[in-house]
Amino acid sequence: MRFAFMCRERPGASHHRVAVVGAGPAGLSATGYLVCRGFEVDVYEKLPIPGGMMTFAIPRHRIPLDSVMEGVEELRDKFGVKFFTSTKVVCGERRDEGDDLAASSADLLKLVEDYDAVLIATGTWRSRRLGIPGDDAKNVVSALEFLLDLHREELGLGSGHLRGFKRVVVIGGGLSAIDAAEESLLNGASEVHLVYRRTIREAPAGEYEVRRLIRLGVNWVELAAPQSIVVENGVARGAVFQRMKLGEPDETGRPRPIPIPGSEFEIEADLVVSAIGEIPTPPIASECGGLGKYVGRDGRILADRSLRVSGTNVFAAGDVVTGPSRIGQAVRQGLQAAREVDRALSLKVLVAR
Ligand SMILES: Cc1cc2nc3c(=O)[nH]c(=O)nc-3n(C[C@H](O)[C@H](O)[C@H](O)COP(=O)(O)OP(=O)(O)OC[C@H]3O[C@@H](n4cnc5c(N)ncnc54)[C@H](O)[C@@H]3O)c2cc1C
Repeated sequence: MRFAFMCRERPGASHHRVAVVGAGPAGLSATGYLVCRGFEVDVYEKLPIPGGMMTFAIPRHRIPLDSVMEGVEELRDKFGVKFFTSTKVVCGERRDEGDDLAASSADLLKLVEDYDAVLIATGTWRSRRLGIPGDDAKNVVSALEFLLDLHREELGLGSGHLRGFKRVVVIGGGLSAIDAAEESLLNGASEVHLVYRRTIREAPAGEYEVRRLIRLGVNWVELAAPQSIVVENGVARGAVFQRMKLGEPDETGRPRPIPIPGSEFEIEADLVVSAIGEIPTPPIASECGGLGKYVGRDGRILADRSLRVSGTNVFAAGDVVTGPSRIGQAVRQGLQAAREVDRALSLKVLVAR
């Protein structure tokens, strides 16, 4: 996977320095663009290995690790990009998933001062909670937590305590749910239920992916929403669901699931995986100088049309701007934000002359 696909080697240096925060597809594609324009780029990444979700969440059969690493090595070895890994960039106090793998931190406001531009591409590293009784039991985890745990063990980064459960219930219908269900099977689960509140036609992962999992042996349960987790001595023993029927379209345009009274049923499980979505995680808490006001209520960075945080040298791209999307969209945004950085800094040189 080449991130610096616009050139074969770095052109003459431009004297501009850019800090990229987050080494997922958005941050890496932006870095590739900027080095091809001669910029000096430092990448700050909280996890020990670059690649974002491609390295730490998406199953290997979909995105091979070698291909991501080839692109990263090219940026480092051929284009002189410095990767400050295991370094969480922060401004104000906040905790997100994967933070325990960061060994040090860097102050966002200091980066803003030290670099000509800062490009934030920190993705969606916090999971939505089920918000039902019992969801704090220790064997109720998010899909991101589950997949991150398996990937970090495979990469020699410890844990792996979520491996080996025999009966797993996964709640959700998106790619995270598909991946959690499939990885459960691959890791020896004998019974995997995938429960979604609408039908296969509305599943965000797409009908093809759901049917593929059914063929692999996953039990697909549609039109059911979780009501509570069955907990004994702090440990989840299963989940209670209520059957749904579809009503009129809601604000998303999809038919609204409507509960059917008295239709509750239980599925027993040793592990409950909640895969109902991830939330944007900017490195900015509300108390972060003037930047706090540019974070929306849903956590997204409120950048303008040129992906710039208005009136600053801070730019943003990828899922931290759009909310959860796909690799292709994150790459496109990374490239767009990099073009805007290029334009803004070139103008600065012209004005200075
Ligand atoms: C389980 C799962 C499966 C998916 N499967 C697919 C798929 O098959 N195909 C597809 O197209 N899309 C898939 N997606 C979506 C895709 O992974 C994302 O849309 C894409 O990775 C977003 O890219 P990004 O660069 O914006 O963010 P990310 O890939 O999340 O990268 C952000 C990076 O920033 C780092 N970071 C976060 N906060 C900080 C901080 N404060 N300081 C420093 N670094 C920080 C993170 O560690 C991470 O490396 C999947 C998503 C999930 C969760």
